[in-house]
Amino acid sequence: MKSDINVKVVKFGGSSLADAKQFEKVAAIIKSDKSRKFVIPSAPGKRFREDEKVTDLLYECYELAAANKDFAACFNKIKDRYNSIISGLSLDLSLDREYDIIEKSLGNSPERDYTASRGEYLNGIILSKYLGFAFVDAADVIYFGEDGQYDVEKTDKAIRDRLSEFEYAVVPGFYGRNADGNIKTFSRGGSDITGSIVSRAVDADLYENWTDVSGFLMADPRIVENPMVIETVTYSELRELSYMGATVLHEEAVFPVRIAGIPINIRNTNRPEDSGTMIVLRTPIEKMCEGITGIAGHKGFSVINIEKDMMNSQVGFALKVLAVLAKYNVSFEHIPSGIDTIGIVVSSSALNSHRHEIVDEIRKAVNPDNLYIEDGLALVAVVGQGMVRNIGTASRIISAVARADVNIRMMDQGTRENNIILSVEEADFEKTVRVIYDEFSV
Ligand code: ASP
Repeated sequence: MKSDINVKVVKFGGSSLADAKQFEKVAAIIKSDKSRKFVIPSAPGKRFREDEKVTDLLYECYELAAANKDFAACFNKIKDRYNSIISGLSLDLSLDREYDIIEKSLGNSPERDYTASRGEYLNGIILSKYLGFAFVDAADVIYFGEDGQYDVEKTDKAIRDRLSEFEYAVVPGFYGRNADGNIKTFSRGGSDITGSIVSRAVDADLYENWTDVSGFLMADPRIVENPMVIETVTYSELRELSYMGATVLHEEAVFPVRIAGIPINIRNTNRPEDSGTMIVLRTPIEKMCEGITGIAGHKGFSVINIEKDMMNSQVGFALKVLAVLAKYNVSFEHIPSGIDTIGIVVSSSALNSHRHEIVDEIRKAVNPDNLYIEDGLALVAVVGQGMVRNIGTASRIISAVARADVNIRMMDQGTRENNIILSVEEADFEKTVRVIYDEFSV
């Protein structure tokens, strides 16, 4: 069968490039598919649990250098990491000149972002040599504007122009150049963002993000034993899940490909036979199933309960209450309401910074009959495109929770119908996630 995928951008995370053995796996993956044309490496990550990531070591060297302390031992650890990759791959390559340049910069005028970026830069040089691909420095194609945001137009054009010169290339992740011409990094984990930006600029058919897990899980594995991998998830489902605490890709990393409609495939370098999770704009009909896509949630919520007779006839009541929250920079999660009551669910930590002032000002603003705060709530979000226009999902969720003897304190279903949020006591949180998972995973 002829595939209609011509160009894939493939990003490999730190654990995928932690040592020579991992490099071999990465090269085998890339070479097994000729559409894998543009490769975005991270810096070498951990080889084992107690190991140090090269990026962390680079930050450490910078801190030492900036404090005028001896950074030689720290920098030697970094050199050893790269040298052992080079010798493990039997490459005819020396990075000595590059090490000298970095050491000189640390000794003369250390720069934090420049130093941190060298992890990806050096790894990119090694990987390009090993693969026989061109090396394109991210500093020559990824630009940040005066406002510190990446400059979409300039970057898109630079990537397109430069990469059109090569059929295959390696572009190191995590950094670019700012308006002053200096190196600037994205936030931690930012190679994902580079992969997304490059995918969009070259109009890739697919952005593969290779890591050490076989995709996103339907529920938190610390709560549910061996949860299933999500096969297909839409960008909006993903946003719902990550907002509620699931560890997925950084919002900034998703944005460029999401607006370009390019799917992302999360894959496992250590199990390339697994198909991973596909993140798409819309769920294809054949993948549309009843039931749910994933469950996420966390503890640490409070509800501000406000009661007032005849509240329903006072236009602007909620507006006055929300203006107080806005003044103290507290955003609300949900507002379940009755005729004469509203409950405003907020994060307890946000509320606690100005708890007393907020209560006083709400009292002044709306003169309630009763106002009290309850803490210790957890929110559980059940997310799934399959729920839309489908009768019965809510009933299955509620019945499962009731059978587990858990009391639902509040419930909310957005009008998009792809998300049902339950609020339960914190003590019931894990149990609630487990019973909902069990209900839908059989
Ligand atoms: N190496 C950088 C970090 O550790 C960026 C990345 O790996 O994506 O944060």
